[in-house]
Amino acid sequence: MAGPMDLTGRVALVTGGNGGIGLGMAKGLAEAGAAIVLAGRDRNKAEAALAELGGRGRFVAADVTDPDACAALVDATRAAFARLDILVNNAGMSVRKQPADLTPEEWRLVLATNLDGAFYCARAAYPAMRDGGGGKIINIGSMMSLFGASFAAAYGASKGGIVQLTRSLAVAWAPDNIQVNAVLPGWIDTALTRDARAQVPGLNERVLARTPAGRWGTPDDLAGIAVFLAGRGSDFVTGAAIPVDGGYSVSG
Ligand code: NDP
Repeated sequence: MAGPMDLTGRVALVTGGNGGIGLGMAKGLAEAGAAIVLAGRDRNKAEAALAELGGRGRFVAADVTDPDACAALVDATRAAFARLDILVNNAGMSVRKQPADLTPEEWRLVLATNLDGAFYCARAAYPAMRDGGGGKIINIGSMMSLFGASFAAAYGASKGGIVQLTRSLAVAWAPDNIQVNAVLPGWIDTALTRDARAQVPGLNERVLARTPAGRWGTPDDLAGIAVFLAGRGSDFVTGAAIPVDGGYSVSG
């Protein structure tokens, strides 16, 4: 029998996999043997990302705020690799403003990308996973799934919602042998947080002071949890929200 972390023959779809944390996870999944479809909007970023996957990946352009695009993404994955075993709902963005300054359009965009998109992709992936005998869904939350921040009302609402969506899907789809878990990354050095560092005074110092590991995470720090949650080794793990944060969430 294949090892608990062996993904040979498995097919993974990673939204927002063309950069940052999604690419870090995709690289881990590819190294463990999976074929990968990266989804996102930016083809230029995707070229560089595919080069890092050693020929194990394809890119499919999709905007996850569009339910039809999510359905087409799952169809394209099945057309390319005949099955879908692993979905990583990683596409995400933030608008950093005080709550009273957030416009309804900004609120909607953050929720549509981070929460609606995860639901649309999971809903589209379900029949393929059920018919294939099971599957793994990995949703990306945040420290903002746990804590509040003055500049993150919409983002925090979306990431809190991701944890509850994870739990409901885990319960609903357990009889189909589909495990659904959330990963809550701490502060990881990506394009998203480079913007945050520029926009939020003192953020870099606060992150370094509170993270017991004493550093920002890197996208590669998320590879191990992705492989674990995608492999046979996590078949009895479902509905969990697992911090990967260098200790941030347990530090006072
Ligand atoms: P990046 O900005 O590097 O990655 C975000 C990815 O999402 C991009 O590849 C982008 O691709 C994609 N994306 C954004 N909007 C859409 C959309 N509408 N449709 C399809 N794809 C979209 O940031 P991170 O790697 O940091 O973020 C990845 C995830 O991790 C997010 O969910 C984020 O909230 C979460 N996270 C990040 C943390 C951090 O410290 N960095 C901490 C906790 C959580 P494209 O531009 O091509 O559409």
